[in-house]
Amino acid sequence: MALARCKKCGLPEGRTAVYVKMVKPVGYPDTALVCGKAGCINPALICLNEEEWKEYQSGVRIFSPPTAACKFRAK
Ligand SMILES: [Zn+2]
Repeated sequence: MALARCKKCGLPEGRTAVYVKMVKPVGYPDTALVCGKAGCINPALICLNEEEWKEYQSGVRIFSPPTAACKFRAK
């Protein structure tokens, strides 16, 4: 499941997933996607695990965070 983090906070250490790549959301850096780390308000990149990174390379652009609250659309 994808997460949103800014460049400064970097790739998160997931409890169950290993995140391997950060990709830009549509509109980045003027994007509605904000870093999910507590106290950070920087524009976020989409952090993908290995499986999601393979999907991205195959043309998939919509990724889901661990809850059904929203989805992220990558460039
Ligand atoms: Zn951040």
